[in-house]
Amino acid sequence: MDLEVMNGLLRPKSIAVIGASNTEGKIGYSVVRSLIEGGYEGPVYPINPKSNEIQGFKAYKSVLDVPGEIDAAAIVVPAKFVPQVTRECGEKGVKGLIVIASGFSEIGRADLETQTVEIAHEYGMRVLGPNIVGILSNSDKCNASFAPFLPLPGKAALVSQSGALFIAMDASTYIRRVGFDKMISIGNMSDVNFGDTVSWLDQDESTGCISLYIEGLKDGRRFMENALTASKPIIALKSGTSAHGAAAAASHTGSLAGSGKVYDAAFEQAGVVRASDLNNLFDRTLAMSLQPPMQGDSLLIVTNGGGVGVLATDSAERYGIPLRFAPEDVQAELRKYMPEFGSARNPVDLTGMAGRDWYQVSVQYSFAHDWVDGLVVLYCETAMTDPQDIAEGIKAAVDGSGVTDKPIAVSFVGGERSEAAMRWLVENGIPAYNEPDTAVNAMASLREYARNQNAAQSFVRNEDVDEAAARAVIANVRSEGDRAMTEIESKAIFEAYGLPVAHTRLATTEDEAVAKAVAANGPVVLKIVSPDILHKSDAGGVKVNVEGEEAVRKYFREILANAKAYKPDADIHGIAVQEMAPWGTEVILGSVNDATFGPAVMFGLGGIFVEILKDVTFRVAPVSPEQSLKMLSDINGAPILEGARGETPKDRKALAEVLSRYSQMIDDLGDEILETDANPVIVYDEGDGVCIVDARIILKAE
Ligand code: ADP
Ligand code: MG
Repeated sequence: MDLEVMNGLLRPKSIAVIGASNTEGKIGYSVVRSLIEGGYEGPVYPINPKSNEIQGFKAYKSVLDVPGEIDAAAIVVPAKFVPQVTRECGEKGVKGLIVIASGFSEIGRADLETQTVEIAHEYGMRVLGPNIVGILSNSDKCNASFAPFLPLPGKAALVSQSGALFIAMDASTYIRRVGFDKMISIGNMSDVNFGDTVSWLDQDESTGCISLYIEGLKDGRRFMENALTASKPIIALKSGTSAHGAAAAASHTGSLAGSGKVYDAAFEQAGVVRASDLNNLFDRTLAMSLQPPMQGDSLLIVTNGGGVGVLATDSAERYGIPLRFAPEDVQAELRKYMPEFGSARNPVDLTGMAGRDWYQVSVQYSFAHDWVDGLVVLYCETAMTDPQDIAEGIKAAVDGSGVTDKPIAVSFVGGERSEAAMRWLVENGIPAYNEPDTAVNAMASLREYARNQNAAQSFVRNEDVDEAAARAVIANVRSEGDRAMTEIESKAIFEAYGLPVAHTRLATTEDEAVAKAVAANGPVVLKIVSPDILHKSDAGGVKVNVEGEEAVRKYFREILANAKAYKPDADIHGIAVQEMAPWGTEVILGSVNDATFGPAVMFGLGGIFVEILKDVTFRVAPVSPEQSLKMLSDINGAPILEGARGETPKDRKALAEVLSRYSQMIDDLGDEILETDANPVIVYDEGDGVCIVDARIILKAE
């Protein structure tokens, strides 16, 4: 990132408005108006070939006529003129273009967009947009947009892909009491994308946390890298995660990958905290912009009402930070500041008799106590107490505790006096919410952030793999004109990556099958091998536990007959003779090649009900064995592997290593492989390893 250029674009010291106007109602009018009303202090150069003066500023026919330097040019001329003015900006030495104009890729004119970016890059300029509202910066008093005013000042930054939401969110900062220093409208992302803005905001001294409204990322991997290296919290609201319109998939994994599951995984891996809706984005942003992360799981709730205490307890469990009882010394101390019928366990119920003093001493004591990792303070408005008094008590307690590395969030339930007190709290750096649930959710976001930060893992490649051998198998399949690989071909690739597969050999004649079964030295499995039959059991193409020459001959013929009946024109390679794997727990491994994030690996409980239960988890590949172990714990059925109901624990370590290798395989071969399934993979007791009995790879279309 060229910092000087990005600073010129997003914190411009001088601005030209190309297409500036004196006609109210035009965007070229609004942008100049916004600069004036926002109090912008740098020079403003309106560009308009037909006027000498615009809204009090001297106007120029072209940027080339402007005497001074220009950092950023806000462009509001029709799309077809944008490439031309871009070149003029380049000649002038402009650093960044804020292309507010629309009429580009969003209406099928991607060519104009590409052309603009190409010209801009020729001159080392960066392009924000097109099709955007503009940029807002309180610390620069810069409103270079057609949004009417700057947001409520604060420490957050917002990047929005939607223009309409950008303007609406700007306005709502005032009633929501969430302050922003910067807002960036990012529109079509022809050049500057989410990753760029994240990296730039990360180094911006007036930004405390970064909030994103995302419809779709363009380069998911780069975004993940930028987000991972950022040192500030990032909160993302991603729209468009419903299954509606998801494409049909050939594999189990493909059909399970819908509903934004890969996005979920990618955000978590990149340390990005999610927001569930707009309210949640603002609520979490408020906490993130004012409070440090919550570094442990011990959340303490202090309240004056049992009802809100129970509500908050439920919320804590819902958001993944279930309450534990406070240790004895904490309880003993807190019991001093409540009547007999209070409770010092957790929630700490000071009762309705609590006034400012009790709140202050108990908050100050507990906030400073080692056991407490985060504090939620609740208050129900009472006739006896003044909310403002309580608010000031809480603030004094926080200051008095000297604690700056733990978070606190507050919820006051009441009327106008409570509202005013909460506004005061927010102005004094303490996030305050109308609902106990919201306060707990905000605290959970600070916990999630800390957890994600600590979970970041680096992947170490397995060097004992034979990528060339795998690619040779793929080339061979391609040369036959196939994209669906048979189990035999798929397993050849798995083996090149050191994955433990059930030993499998192809037989093209009955005699060959008998010979291979004899060599297997035990019962075998016979399976149809055809690129046209993906789900072999559905075609009557699998016979397990086959023993003896007679049985092999009988089922050989039966499977062939079944396959022909199922699909008369199927291309049949032969019958696979496979060693029978001992019984164990069936799981599924799989992968998709996500349009945004590329290869992503999946793990879940296997068997025929996998698509119904949907108990699966995804990660963008590759994943380390440690991250893989975490995946095994992610699913609802995790206890089954851990040894539920007196069963011996399963070999999770071996499974995690296989999953990690699997992720390397699909990542290495991501240019070729579209989807894979290993279903089932049989997991044995601890120390006994795993066995992949079925394998399926679908190649990308050429
Ligand atoms: P498909 O999924 O195409 O129908 P599979 O190869 O998965 O075919 O076989 C169907 C089922 O047969 C598996 O889910 C598994 O329960 C069983 N099976 C397949 N191969 C073996 C094997 N080598 N050892 C033991 N059981 C097997
Ligand atoms: Mg299968």
